[in-house]
Amino acid sequence: MANSTHLTSMHKQLILVDSHCHLNYPEILPNLDAVLENAKANDIHYCLTINTRLSETDLIKGIAKAYPHIFCTVGVHPHDAKDHDVDTLFATLTDHAQDPNVVGLGETGLDYYYDNSPRDEQIACFDIHLTASKQLNLPVVIHTRDADEDTLARVRQHPDATGVFHCFSGSIDLAKAALDLGYYLSFSGIITFKKADELREVVKFAPLDRILVETDSPFLAPIPHRGKPNQPAWTRLVAEKVADIKGIALEEVAVATTANFFQLFHKAYKIAQ
Ligand SMILES: [Zn+2]
Ligand SMILES: [Zn+2]
Repeated sequence: MANSTHLTSMHKQLILVDSHCHLNYPEILPNLDAVLENAKANDIHYCLTINTRLSETDLIKGIAKAYPHIFCTVGVHPHDAKDHDVDTLFATLTDHAQDPNVVGLGETGLDYYYDNSPRDEQIACFDIHLTASKQLNLPVVIHTRDADEDTLARVRQHPDATGVFHCFSGSIDLAKAALDLGYYLSFSGIITFKKADELREVVKFAPLDRILVETDSPFLAPIPHRGKPNQPAWTRLVAEKVADIKGIALEEVAVATTANFFQLFHKAYKIAQ
């Protein structure tokens, strides 16, 4: 299965994007140069490092500024909604979005599995990101867990917002609804896990022109690295798994997911030129 894809990659240069990682986290930051070199060696040419709390935004913007092939987002994770003032959030997002390396908003969304923040505060925070998506013409990175109905309801309230359901691990129904609303789906190392048969059906179903790949580093290391800190290099294992599931070449997955990334994160496309 992997032989044909490896053969292809020997002939043509692959360009993959890790559309969601957390390069400022302590598992990665002290070794960032080595981590990024390994990414490059595995054909991961670009990374999008994702903001989860505003106290870390300047650090993340600094990383994106230091490396020309790294872009970043600004936003507040649903876990952290309780620590942020919704009254000033829109202005803060707008301010940070003036930075040329800030190409998206989030990650935002709803997490009713952990419920680390009260649900009404998660919703208020999510709504502001969705409003900002339209106002600032930037896509949102959506994190959703055990909150399908409310997530879709909020997205439907903001028909002019765009974005991606990151680390997609939901049902085929959620996938269909997200796609119908114009959103992209991003797949992570979860698709390599043994118990993810239902999710692999979603991968099979999802149109090639609407999917992205990501690691969510340092979390969710794919097989055969489970339990270790994840790193952007392993985006390749996710892309290989997508190729396996869809029965197509790795090269085709790389071309499509990279094009999709730059289509959605259009501000990154300008920087990459
Ligand atoms: Zn997330
Ligand atoms: Zn994340």
